[in-house]
Amino acid sequence: MKILIVNAGSSSLKYQLVDMDNETLIAKGGVERIGLEGANLKQKDAEGNVNAKFEQPIENHVVACDLMIKALLDSKVIASMDEIGAVGHRVLHGGEEFTASCIITEEVKAAIRKYIPLGPLHNPANLMGIEACEKVMPTTPQVAVFDTAFHQTMPPKAFMYGVPYEFYKEMGVRRYGFHGTSHRYVSKRVCEFLNIDPVGKKIIVCHLGNGSSLSAVVDGKCVDTSMGLTPLEGLLMGTRCGSCDPAVVQFIANNKNMTPDEVLNLMNKKSGLLGIAGEGTSDMRDIDALADGGHERAALARDMLYYQIKKLIGSYIAAMNGVDVICFTAGIGENGPELREAVMSEFEWLGVKIDKDVNNCKGKEVVISTPDSKVTVCVIPTNEEIMIARDTKELVEAAK
Ligand code: ADP
Repeated sequence: MKILIVNAGSSSLKYQLVDMDNETLIAKGGVERIGLEGANLKQKDAEGNVNAKFEQPIENHVVACDLMIKALLDSKVIASMDEIGAVGHRVLHGGEEFTASCIITEEVKAAIRKYIPLGPLHNPANLMGIEACEKVMPTTPQVAVFDTAFHQTMPPKAFMYGVPYEFYKEMGVRRYGFHGTSHRYVSKRVCEFLNIDPVGKKIIVCHLGNGSSLSAVVDGKCVDTSMGLTPLEGLLMGTRCGSCDPAVVQFIANNKNMTPDEVLNLMNKKSGLLGIAGEGTSDMRDIDALADGGHERAALARDMLYYQIKKLIGSYIAAMNGVDVICFTAGIGENGPELREAVMSEFEWLGVKIDKDVNNCKGKEVVISTPDSKVTVCVIPTNEEIMIARDTKELVEAAK
């Protein structure tokens, strides 16, 4: 079965076509600047060679979807649309309703709509992607895979905020967590890789990319995670500030004559590594280069990130009463040996030992701890797409 994986943003639509008979990528592409000047689509084959390219007005997501199908047909990646067995959509927020992926029905769409206030930037775009695919492929089954679902196993003591309880009941004010598909993939994959049973194991997954989050996983189930009601909470990120005293919002608003919305926008888009280093970049590679060259604020941004990761790992070890495996994943986690070594060296007191030579690698599955380390430390490249495709295949086959 060939599965199309769709990740729709407000002005973009990324897609991958995967052959699920052998879990191989057939093609991947993206539509950018939907509804804007300079809209385009670019598609590459499995080897990374461009096999379709369009530059034309793309008014909306339905046009983008049409063009995606045209690109797949024109490049002869598929001979007919019927070859696409199902479409799996990445959906940001499923609230408390979705603890797992599901086949999209009118009720599911209504629920995604209901959670727009919790995911105002993403859920409307995800819905547009779903409805556009339904229009273009009306008989093809569609599946929703939620970023929040994996974290739904957290106990109330981990997901509740200390605001009046009614706010949780009335408005759903609580920690939801994000990157769930990545945390699920990595925490499962590391057990296969190490040939261990997830039951009885305590695992910490460090997903460190533009957006970053940690999760604590016991018996294969998430017991805590660092992102909250929105993806702003937790670690310092590329452009997001991460956790800080909520009173900071009011304080900045009053002093700078800004609205809370404007302050939140600043905390999401102008803060983090970008805001601390102040050099117009949120890319860890640039921050590293600047810091290594003696740039004090870039060095501070990096120190803050390392320190916060260390503190969060420490808190999850306490939360789980121990840890068996620590995994690094996503852009920085997979490609940053310096960060991994710096953070893990802080846990020597716990008996963590890193093999510096083995750690000096990028983007591959590897155990970077020594055989006598008290905790196994691994790099596991994330693969959210394969998780979406697997869920989609499983649900569609079960529904047949
Ligand atoms: P997103 O959250 O957008 O999916 P990614 O997981 O792609 O982000 O991570 C982006 C981050 O990963 C950037 O800070 C970037 O500097 C870093 N990164 C990506 N590739 C490398 C690399 N080869 N070496 C070092 N850092 C990298």
